[in-house]
Amino acid sequence: MTHPPSVDAVARGLRDIGLPAPLLVDAARQAVAEVGAAGADAVHRRARGIAEDRRRALLQPVVNATGVLLHTNLGRAPYPHAHAGGYRNVELRLDTGGRGNRSEHAASLLARACGAEAALVVNNCAAALLLTLTALAGPGRAAVASRGELVEIGGGFRVPEVMTASGTELLEVGTTNRTRRADFERAVAEGGDRVALLLKVPPSNYRIVGFTEATEVPDLVGLGRPVVADIGSGLLDAACPWLRGGPPAWLAGEPAARQTLAQGADLVTFSGDKLLGGPQAGIIAGRADLVATIARHPLARALRCGGMVLAALQQLALDYLDRNGDAIPLWRMATIELDRLRARADALAAASASSAGVVALPSAMDAVPGGGTLPGVTIASYGLVLAGDRRAELRAHRPPIIARVEDDRTWLDLRTVDPAEDAAVLDALRSLDRGSSPSSFDERSDPTG
Ligand SMILES: *Cc1c(COP(=O)(O)O)cnc(C)c1O
Repeated sequence: MTHPPSVDAVARGLRDIGLPAPLLVDAARQAVAEVGAAGADAVHRRARGIAEDRRRALLQPVVNATGVLLHTNLGRAPYPHAHAGGYRNVELRLDTGGRGNRSEHAASLLARACGAEAALVVNNCAAALLLTLTALAGPGRAAVASRGELVEIGGGFRVPEVMTASGTELLEVGTTNRTRRADFERAVAEGGDRVALLLKVPPSNYRIVGFTEATEVPDLVGLGRPVVADIGSGLLDAACPWLRGGPPAWLAGEPAARQTLAQGADLVTFSGDKLLGGPQAGIIAGRADLVATIARHPLARALRCGGMVLAALQQLALDYLDRNGDAIPLWRMATIELDRLRARADALAAASASSAGVVALPSAMDAVPGGGTLPGVTIASYGLVLAGDRRAELRAHRPPIIARVEDDRTWLDLRTVDPAEDAAVLDALRSLDRGSSPSSFDERSDPTG
């Protein structure tokens, strides 16, 4: 029977992992408790494993080689702007020195970029819709929505439940497959003053096909109630003036803020981290009087975002107004030419072949928008294919490389990899054994929604 090593000695042996001492002590203590009886080597090994897992659990940059542009598990859109810390004029007017307003910078620029009178930025799109319903309708009042649009958008976001959470009564009209303007008209007539608004949720993550009829925004205009469209995806303008080549074909039919407002919606709500290409946020844009009413509601205070998010959104809005899609990583990746992806794949395959590493074959593949947007849509892409499931080893690389597996092959899609990250991908490929067993890794499913 050997004595277990001291917790301190084990923790000291883990310093190279780069975690603060208390976390190394935790790992050492746990290892001693678990395998102390098995001797010093076993304790050191176990402690190292625990500490490595702890380090890997930290939030860190990863290389997204999944080909999913908006990968929910990777924070959806990649956003560009690293911001310095320190103070900011979040609510200070630099001209008068008086109290400023959080909507004066990012929100007003986003409003300008999508042709809205005003906008408000909150924590996410779910918060945007919750706040809009609470402030414009809420307890004692009702909102009308089509039965075909009472959907779950993902991650437990269900339109009827958000409605309930806001205290708003939901007046369902029409049927799952067909809803007409007359259905809304009747609900407004019967509900009278109780009816505060009409809600439109364009299909984002599903399609209803066959014998269908949906009420579009223009059908809801003129019924005497504000029309709120939860477009979610965050496409600012269907014409994509920030892209030299105009909108890519795969974007066709995606509802956009500018066009939805131009059709007569009084408000649109959308996410900051989907096709807007920014940080997690929710934007409410449209009529100035309605935005002001929403901003005054006490819940707005609880759902607001901080200076870091506002600063990132402000830079993003300036890039949109500059029509500089190249400055927005999402759009850069979404529109990079196939030839350039192919050239990068060929170069990576050649460079990795020259080492003793794994065989990586250049291949065409399909990327997807992801993020619950544009269901069924694929974007032609190019990347590398490896035999077997190599995801665990790629995740263990620093920085972690996130790939996907299909047909017992590992697919590395370069559309979602910044060219500056190719060196990291090459380094990871070189570190893979030529032929380790694909079945020897503990693999979890890799949701891409
Ligand atoms: C994604 C989405 C939401 C939820 O957005 P979050 O920013 O994740 O809260 C709401 N509505 C629609 C239509 C969406 O597509």
